[in-house]
Amino acid sequence: MAAQITTNATERDVTKMERIGTHSHIRGLGLDPTTLEPRGNAQGMVGQGKARKAAGVILKMVQEGRIAGRAILMAGPPSTGKTAIAMGMAQSLGSDVPFTMISASEIFSLEMSKTEALTQAFRRSIGVRIKEESEIIEGEVVEIQIDRSLTGATKTGKITVKTTDMETVYDLGNKMIDALTKEKVIAGDVIVIDKGTGKISKLGRSFTRARDYDAMGADTKFVQCPEGELQVRKEVVHTVSLHEIDVINSRTQGFLALFAGDTGEIKSELRDQINTKVSDWREEGKAEIVPGVLFIDEVHMLDIECFSFLNRALETELAPIVIMASNRGMTRIRGTKYKSPHGIPIDLLDRALIISTKAYEPEDIKEILSIRAQEEDVNLSPAAIEILTKIGTETSLRYVIQLITLSNLVARRRKSTTVDVPDVRRVYTLFLDEKRSVQYLKEQNSVLLG
Ligand code: ATP
Repeated sequence: MAAQITTNATERDVTKMERIGTHSHIRGLGLDPTTLEPRGNAQGMVGQGKARKAAGVILKMVQEGRIAGRAILMAGPPSTGKTAIAMGMAQSLGSDVPFTMISASEIFSLEMSKTEALTQAFRRSIGVRIKEESEIIEGEVVEIQIDRSLTGATKTGKITVKTTDMETVYDLGNKMIDALTKEKVIAGDVIVIDKGTGKISKLGRSFTRARDYDAMGADTKFVQCPEGELQVRKEVVHTVSLHEIDVINSRTQGFLALFAGDTGEIKSELRDQINTKVSDWREEGKAEIVPGVLFIDEVHMLDIECFSFLNRALETELAPIVIMASNRGMTRIRGTKYKSPHGIPIDLLDRALIISTKAYEPEDIKEILSIRAQEEDVNLSPAAIEILTKIGTETSLRYVIQLITLSNLVARRRKSTTVDVPDVRRVYTLFLDEKRSVQYLKEQNSVLLG
C-alpha cells in the first residue's frame, strides 16, 4: 500500500514538471493529415501557418524514409515559435524515429572535443531497427500449480508443458499467472509461450494450425528446424540508436554509461566496426536504418570547425536530417572575421532548405496566452488577457508567457483564484523584459561614466 502511495506522488510530480515546461502545450504541428494545411488552433499550435506546413512536408518525407542527410534552417526573430515547431515535429514523428535536441553552446565542454560531441549527437539521431526472432514453445499443459500468498498480491507457481519430445517445468511469475488466468488455461490445453515476452496464448484442444497461427498475426512464422521439428517463431522488432550501440560496445564505457549520461569520447575504430556490423545486418535483412532528426538551436553559436564538420557529416551515408534554428541576421561566423547571414557559412547555407518564422499578430498572441493559461491551470480575467496581449506585442511571446505564472503567484497571495490587471502590472514592474533591461543598463552606464 505504501508503495502505491509513493508511485502516485511521483507520477504527480512528473506531470507537474511536464506541464511547467515551456513547450508542454505543443502536441504536434496541428495540420490536416491529408492536405497538410495548418488548422487554426490545433494540437496547441496557433498561427505561423506557412512554417508549420513546410515543417509538415519535411516531417512526412522523414516518416516515409525519403530524406536524410539534409539541412533545414528555421530562421526568424526571437520567440516566433522555431523551437515550438521543432517540438511539434518531434511529437508527430512516432516513437521509433529518433529526435535529438541540442543547443549549439552545449557542445563546448571540457569533457570531449566539439566534433566528438557533434558526432554523438548525429549518431543519437540515427535509429537502427533490429529484427529478431523470439522462440515460441508450443505444447500441451500437463499440470499447473499456483500458490497465492495471503494478501493475494504475490503469486508463484509452476506449469508443466509437454512438447513433442520432452516435458518441461516452467516457474510462473505474476505476469504469466495473470496470462494463464485470463486465457482460462487448464491441464490438457494446448498453449504457446513466447519465450521472449513471456506471453501465453491458448490454442485450445481442437485447433487447426494454420487458422490459429494466422490469428496470432502476420509476424508469426513456421521455421523448419534441422531435426525436422516444426517450430513457431515470432518476429520482435526494436529500435536503438547508433550511439546506443556504440556505448554498449565500448569496452571502457559499458551500457551503464547510458543511464549515467556520461559516455566520454568513443574511439573512431569502434565506430567503424559498428558501421560495418550494421551494414552486414542490413544486407542480411536483419536491420533497417531509420534516419531521425537532429535539432540544433542557436546554431550561430557553432564555430567554423563545427560547420565544416557538419558539411562533411551530412555527406555520409548514415546522416540524419539536421534542423538548425537561428534568430540572428547578418552576424560573424564564430572563429572567423567574416560575416554571413545567421552566422552560417555560405556553403552550408546554400545546401539548406530555409523555413522562416514571422512576428505574431496580437490575435495569435492572445490565443497562445489562453492555451498556456489553460496548460498551467491559471484563470485570467478578460482584462488581464488583454493587457498581457499588449505587453506580448511590445516585448516577446516568451516574456509574456512567463508573466502568466508569476502573476498567478501574486494573485494567489491576495487569495484570488483569478489573475487580474493589478497582478500583471505588479510583475511587469518587478521583472524586466529584454528591451527595458538594455535601457536600464544604458542609463546606468551614462551614470557611471558620467
Ligand atoms: P528563440 O529564437 O528566442 O529561441 P523561438 O523562435 O525558438 O525563440 P519558441 O521558444 O518556440 O521561440 O517560442 C516561445 C514560446 O512561445 C514557447 O513557450 C512556445 O511554446 C510558444 N509558441 C511559439 N510559437 C507558438 C505557436 N505557433 N503556437 C503555440 N505556442 C507557440
